[in-house]
Amino acid sequence: MALTGIEIFKMLPKTNCKECGYPTCLAFAMALASGKAELEACPYVSEEAKEKLAEASAPPIRPIKLGPKDAQKVIGGETVQFRHEKTFYNPTLIAGLLTTQMSDAEVEAKCKQFMALQFERVGLNLRPEMLAILDKDGDPAKFAGLVKKVMDLTDALLLLASDKVEVLKAGAEVAKERRPILAAATPANADALGALAKEMDLPLVARAEGYDALADLTTKLSGMGLKDIIIDSGARTLKQVLQDNIVFRRAALVPKFRPFGFPVLNCVAEMTDDPMKQALYASMGIAKYAAIVVLSDLSPHIVFPLLLQRLNIYTDPQKPMIVTQGIYPINNPDENSPIAVTTNFALTYFIVSGEIEGSKVPTWLLIKDTEGLSVMTAWAAGKFSGDDVGQFVKKCGITEKAKTRTLIIPGYAAAISGDLEEELPDWKILIGPREASHIPAFLKSLPQ
Ligand code: SF4
Repeated sequence: MALTGIEIFKMLPKTNCKECGYPTCLAFAMALASGKAELEACPYVSEEAKEKLAEASAPPIRPIKLGPKDAQKVIGGETVQFRHEKTFYNPTLIAGLLTTQMSDAEVEAKCKQFMALQFERVGLNLRPEMLAILDKDGDPAKFAGLVKKVMDLTDALLLLASDKVEVLKAGAEVAKERRPILAAATPANADALGALAKEMDLPLVARAEGYDALADLTTKLSGMGLKDIIIDSGARTLKQVLQDNIVFRRAALVPKFRPFGFPVLNCVAEMTDDPMKQALYASMGIAKYAAIVVLSDLSPHIVFPLLLQRLNIYTDPQKPMIVTQGIYPINNPDENSPIAVTTNFALTYFIVSGEIEGSKVPTWLLIKDTEGLSVMTAWAAGKFSGDDVGQFVKKCGITEKAKTRTLIIPGYAAAISGDLEEELPDWKILIGPREASHIPAFLKSLPQ
């Protein structure tokens, strides 16, 4: 049973050393009790207390590690119902679907498409991560062959689905280095499939219709020693899936109902054959609590909006999105190309780099760390002053890459040009346009 903050406090060192990030041990205990802190944050908890606190301090939704150690992804581990309460931590995994009834050519094409679906945004590589492999023939050797083929052609995390335990076993043995998810344990096969998942230490999907049956199933699997469980209500209508996702999240968080304290799988590929509807249903799953969504079609026009939606939802609203400080070459600049500087607010970077790219003018874009503030705010806060920008230009290494000594600054930071000229006496400071949409014309007007 969950412990209260006071009960947890009694087991803490009570030195108020603040190393956990909280001002007192009591504040840390309260945060722990409400699932907002993790026990590891206090380095001084005794082993004995750790054992006692493990249950109370466990996240209300179990985090599950998937994939090989060097490329692990985590699902679950969420602690709030609404993103603005804190943040969502572990993004929904997006999966495509392969079946044993697809031809070799179709499987190869889908694997190739999966590997090609990678988009660079804000210094991040956005891509789907998972392939679900569905057995439709009940043939262990055929299933294992398909799993092997997918392993050879992709780096995907894997979800292996079959009604037959022996088929799943054959696939799991081939794929065990990627720690595949097995799907799905039902009340009918829970003993056999639970034993396989336990023996191979693999995550297992639990599927049962109705909340009571599902709670009984996860309780049974937990009793068998399985910890990494993913729940699927079995619902395949939008309304019911949404309701179930919300019920699971609320039950896990508010009364800390452990039988539903697991990540949730939404198999939208089984909800409709229409790819556009699947995209909409997946979008709902990403917004409302699915840890994994499985689509039958991973076409770029379906996946790209989902990746962006996911990026937005799983970005901490309390931290501005930033890009790394540094030199960003755009359109293959050389030593004679112009140099521009702006702040590391991701939106600023997106817009400015997009306009430069569109201009086709080779340009060095310098991104200065302003703690994620936009140009005007950073300037007003003293984080984009002439001194600061000058020091950054000297130290960032651009002088080794370019002979140009002309620096373009944002129009909104025109006020720093005087200080900048003092800080960079060998440079010519050009004031760029205020609006990013004027950047292409501005760059094209520069002497080549
Ligand atoms: Fe107390 Fe531990 Fe936090 Fe220090 S790190 S204040 S001992 S809970």
